[in-house]
Amino acid sequence: MDHFLYKNGTLHAEDVALADIAASVGTPFYVYSAATLTRHYRLFTEALSPLPHLVCFAIKSLSNVAVLKLLGDLGAGMDVVSGGEYLRAKAAGVPGDRIVFSGVGKTRDEMRLALKGGIRQFNLESEPEMRALSQVATELGVVAPVAVRVNPDVDAKTHEKIATGKKENKFGIPIDRASAVYAEIARLPGLKVVGIDVHIGSQLTELEPFELAFKKVADLTRQLRAEGHTITRLDLGGGLGIPYTRSNEAPPLPTDYGAMIKRTLGDLDVEIEIEPGRLISGNSGLMVSGVIYVKNGEDRDFLILDAAMNDLVRPSMYGAHHDIIPVVEAPAGSPTQAYDIVGPVCETGDTFAKGRDLPLLAEGDLVAFRSAGAYGAVMSSEYNTRPLIPEVLVKGDHFAVIRARPTYDEMLNRDSIPEWL
Ligand SMILES: *Cc1c(COP(=O)(O)O)cnc(C)c1O
Repeated sequence: MDHFLYKNGTLHAEDVALADIAASVGTPFYVYSAATLTRHYRLFTEALSPLPHLVCFAIKSLSNVAVLKLLGDLGAGMDVVSGGEYLRAKAAGVPGDRIVFSGVGKTRDEMRLALKGGIRQFNLESEPEMRALSQVATELGVVAPVAVRVNPDVDAKTHEKIATGKKENKFGIPIDRASAVYAEIARLPGLKVVGIDVHIGSQLTELEPFELAFKKVADLTRQLRAEGHTITRLDLGGGLGIPYTRSNEAPPLPTDYGAMIKRTLGDLDVEIEIEPGRLISGNSGLMVSGVIYVKNGEDRDFLILDAAMNDLVRPSMYGAHHDIIPVVEAPAGSPTQAYDIVGPVCETGDTFAKGRDLPLLAEGDLVAFRSAGAYGAVMSSEYNTRPLIPEVLVKGDHFAVIRARPTYDEMLNRDSIPEWL
């Protein structure tokens, strides 16, 4: 459930009409609902209770500092995958002991940043990385808390670009090498084992792959303990999928996910960490765009929007589906029209949807892309020198711009011409 509903025939984010935001900030823009973000975070904490747990929001899905502050103030931890994301979490007021550092290629600079600023744990992804972290920590005179990301070799049954838990993927350490790796960690002066980490992919629509992976983690926990390691935390990653269409998809609910975690890991006396991104942010955000032109082609009609692939890349990158709905609700029984919905960027890939039935639309009308809160704004670029679009946060009847659209001057002034040119 989200808080984007029609009221008096016009689409609202909570109690704010999207048309009012459009009039104030211009289109296109992203808009997030505080009530929806809060609700999704709470679904996870409730699903995991009474197990000791920490829900670490995967910042990479939606990294605006205002959103991080909202979730951090509710008690959320943060899962970061870069030094920049680490600084975002800190800027949002999240203490280091609630920040988990994931990612395949942490640099020594990033390690130093987090060790100095405070960190709950590093999720290590390779043996060279583990040795580098030990060195960096030793130089700083500290001991780094670590978990090793194990690759359980399970098929997440999701899009190939976001599956991460098969042995051919670049992520983690093969689970059958874990014993040797933990033994080496125990000998390294700068590291201290706190747990095990696993993350098998994103947009999973079944529980079975998770359960297979978590059972392997349960076995590994017992084995590593028998070998003398202290395993007090299991980080289970993120990846729970969301419905992208209103009609037929029904991915597992956080309640079912939580029940499965309790069933497979509940007797291990560990603290559970999870790293959901998409499930918290995805359906908490919309992208709102205006129609520039309706172009009647030979055998199809194009809706040319002011948003493009640089603003929301998921359709062109993953072939992803987003429901696209008119901001002004069409009266029941109104005629519809099949449109190819495209942006102005000079690539055929700049197509959001083909043959999509919508009520008749005209220049200046507004449409909203649903489920755009995750991997939307964060993946946007300035391709075609199109300014990054603003982000807006709504709470009740308040709204505020939480990232402004840059001016053309700001964009151009980032380039510099060498004096020898
Ligand atoms: C991407 C990622 C997540 C979040 O995935 P979602 O599908 O958005 O829940 C969590 N942990 C790690 C390590 C990731 O790479």
